[in-house]
Amino acid sequence: MTDIKSDEGLEAPNNNEHINFHHPYTPYDVQLQFMRTVYNILEKGGGQVGILESPTGTGKSLSLICSALTWLRHHKRSRFSASFDETSAAMAGEPDWMIEAALRRKRQELARLWEEREAALRKAREKERQEEEKAAMGLHGRSVKRARVDDGEYGKRKKGEIDEEREFLVGDWADGTVTGDGLAGLSKETRELMAKVGLGGAQGKEGEEDCSLIEEEVKIYYTSRTHSQIAQFIGELRRPAFPTSIPEDMLSTDNLGKGPPTEPVKQVPLSSRQKLCINPSVARLNSLSAINDRCTELQQGKSGHKCPFIPNADNLKQVHEFRDTVLASLPDIEDLYRVGKDLQVCPYYASREAIPGAEVVTLPYPLLLQKSAREALGIKLEGNIVIIDEAHNIMDAIANVHAAEIRLSELRRAREMLGVYVKRFGKKLKGENRMMVAQVGRVVESLSEWLNTALNGKGDHGIVDSNSLLKARGADQINLYQLIKYIQDSKLAYKVESYVSHKEEEEAQGQGKTSTTTPVLHTLVSFLSALTNLSTEGRIFYEKLLTTPSDIKLSYLLLSPTHAFSSIVSAARAVILAGGTMSPFDDYKAHLFPMLSEDKITTLSCGHVIPSSNLFVWTLASTRPGQQGSAAASDAFEFSFQKRSDPAMIRQLGLVLLNICSVVPDGVVVFFPSYSYLDEVVAAWQAPETQNGPSVSFQRKQTLWDRLAAKKTLFRESKGGSSDEILQQYSDAIFSAGTASRQQLDPTGRGGALLLSVVGGKLSEGINFSDRLGRCVVVVGLPYPNINSPEWKARIEYVETAAIARLTSSKTSRFEGEGDKTQSRALTREEALPLARQVARDFYENACMRAVNQSIGRAIRHRGDYAAVVLIDRRFGTDRIRGKLPGWIRQGMVEGSENKGLAGLMSGLGSFFRGRSG
Ligand code: SF4
Repeated sequence: MTDIKSDEGLEAPNNNEHINFHHPYTPYDVQLQFMRTVYNILEKGGGQVGILESPTGTGKSLSLICSALTWLRHHKRSRFSASFDETSAAMAGEPDWMIEAALRRKRQELARLWEEREAALRKAREKERQEEEKAAMGLHGRSVKRARVDDGEYGKRKKGEIDEEREFLVGDWADGTVTGDGLAGLSKETRELMAKVGLGGAQGKEGEEDCSLIEEEVKIYYTSRTHSQIAQFIGELRRPAFPTSIPEDMLSTDNLGKGPPTEPVKQVPLSSRQKLCINPSVARLNSLSAINDRCTELQQGKSGHKCPFIPNADNLKQVHEFRDTVLASLPDIEDLYRVGKDLQVCPYYASREAIPGAEVVTLPYPLLLQKSAREALGIKLEGNIVIIDEAHNIMDAIANVHAAEIRLSELRRAREMLGVYVKRFGKKLKGENRMMVAQVGRVVESLSEWLNTALNGKGDHGIVDSNSLLKARGADQINLYQLIKYIQDSKLAYKVESYVSHKEEEEAQGQGKTSTTTPVLHTLVSFLSALTNLSTEGRIFYEKLLTTPSDIKLSYLLLSPTHAFSSIVSAARAVILAGGTMSPFDDYKAHLFPMLSEDKITTLSCGHVIPSSNLFVWTLASTRPGQQGSAAASDAFEFSFQKRSDPAMIRQLGLVLLNICSVVPDGVVVFFPSYSYLDEVVAAWQAPETQNGPSVSFQRKQTLWDRLAAKKTLFRESKGGSSDEILQQYSDAIFSAGTASRQQLDPTGRGGALLLSVVGGKLSEGINFSDRLGRCVVVVGLPYPNINSPEWKARIEYVETAAIARLTSSKTSRFEGEGDKTQSRALTREEALPLARQVARDFYENACMRAVNQSIGRAIRHRGDYAAVVLIDRRFGTDRIRGKLPGWIRQGMVEGSENKGLAGLMSGLGSFFRGRSG
């Protein structure tokens, strides 16, 4: 790699101190630190992993973009140089003039390809701009002949017109004759068709040069938790301008303007058919699985119909236009859908044509985290960069994408549906089909029997021995793999559900009602797939549900994300896990990639961009000053499960909030450990205070709730309630109260709002309590998960067992709980046991602290913001718990606050808010 002038953004310098990251603003020090760290990790490659924490409001997305894209462009330029070196080396011994001529030809050829592609994309961008202008002026956009949507007779849904057999009867089936395409893949026929017309790869038609198909060797796969977070990321991608990926001295003079030449980023967003299907009669089906099944069926054309939007030889021109528009315009999912609709070509499939030419591919969690989904989409992570944003919940996200559950009521419905189907088509089903449908029936019966027995049994929940589930009706003799393959290939679930839905709609229309069906057979397939995947890393649980009529469910839980994540880490050049609050870090190392050596992992906890005077963090261990933080102190706050119902402590908590609300302007948000505890506390505050209660005077006949309501408008999150509605009302209450300074002058002292919320609840993630919405965030207690639940028991047991296995293995030399200390020998089981128990305890505690950190992270969202954070529980004063708070919160902690009591807190809050307004 050549050293060059780094501040002009040319090639990768050897040290990254002076790199110009092309940040659109002057970056703060913490942003520079973050970008340099990302750059280093990507440059090192070789399976490096970065766990990076940067508080919300510090411009994390832009820092990720600037560092990753700057690195990518540097890398591409260095690849150009390397390829010339390779050519020279291959021609060693030839005369110099020949080598120079060959190099010149190569340079010209590469530059021509690059320039032609950029010109094509410029043209597509210009056309897109004109289309947008026309659309804005209400003029007609692209003139593409509208495809007649002929998705089959079922789509028309006119009574009496449907050929039921052609539409709903499963086709002939013999094992292995139909491509099992998983849930999201292309059918074999479509793949072949696409290959025939030059789609489905980086190659154009024979003899045809298609410059837009230059394949990007290294890609950045970016994923985040929600579609809106991905859309925001794409919005940020539009801001910076990066230098060309080809060295400037290779460009023709036409491309050399006044400033350094830039090259727009090429990005394609991927999503499911549910978001991208433009065939109205398929898109309106009520589940992703039904849409997937119907779509693949329409490609096979077995019912005599095909989706007119699937890429094929007839719409090749539109597909290429779609691809170029996508690569040229940094679209989000909505844009992709619109372009596909305008061009009358399926955006779900056509977007794959843009993948080879994309530098950045954005996609939701499930498409990246599931190996089967990656394979179906043709995503190869080998040698590429993976960025996982909002990664604090990545372990839960992995568990969620692999989770499956089924209820007894759904199994009953499945049996009923199969009955209706077999009654209509039973005689028409050919031998193999009839046998397989009967097997599905037996599996449903067996699962139902097991659940019926459990429903009438004593326990409310527990772990299930998976072998016992299929004991009845000889279901344990059935080859589940073959059965699942049959259901997927034959689209049996879709056929049965759509036939029953069709029949019920007919009946409902006759009675003037509307019919709704839930995709229970698809749910069954997911659950059966989980059963076949069951390994030491997964468990099945049962749980009775508090519903009327009574119901019970089986659920599959992946206990460890290690195996699922290892396929990503082992393939990628580098993986970045980024988030606003990633602390505590140890869990990721111990449970996501325990096989990685320390030198492959980089961690960074960035400070905040706010001045330290804008943050006030306080631990309130007790209302009284002194060494109250110890467990022995009688009036210390400790909201553990055993102690939290103490009426005196609940009352003290109310008085603390009353005091906080007297000095904090605008919004105060309080996070409780659970909905049930929030209900208990509110009920206690709403109850009249009895004569036995401590110091009840005349004035105190008002309830604590009334007194809080006299200070601020009260809001409370409820389990089933709408968070949007509460948030809107809460925000209205704050903003209708005028400015903070006016409120402080209000002689009644009332102003702003108090929101009682729950850690891990709907308001604790992704919601922004910036500025006046969150001048103080209070966390009550430590929200440990319920250790007595079967899921947590199983998790802890798994973590302990896995730790023992690691510690007693001669190959293992690292123990996570021991910091830098490493083991040089395998431990005996007796030695390993206490260490393994500590690993399990940490795992449990870290789950709690991740949730706390998320809640705290709701406050302070930008550089000018300021807020107080009050942690109420003596345990927040311990070093162990403090060590698990984000670095920026630890830095903002008032020293010794845990010993200063309520008076200290009030004086601290008073000084913090004095003189501030707005
Ligand atoms: S090919 Fe595309 S538009 Fe047609 S049904 Fe499938 S997803 Fe929908």
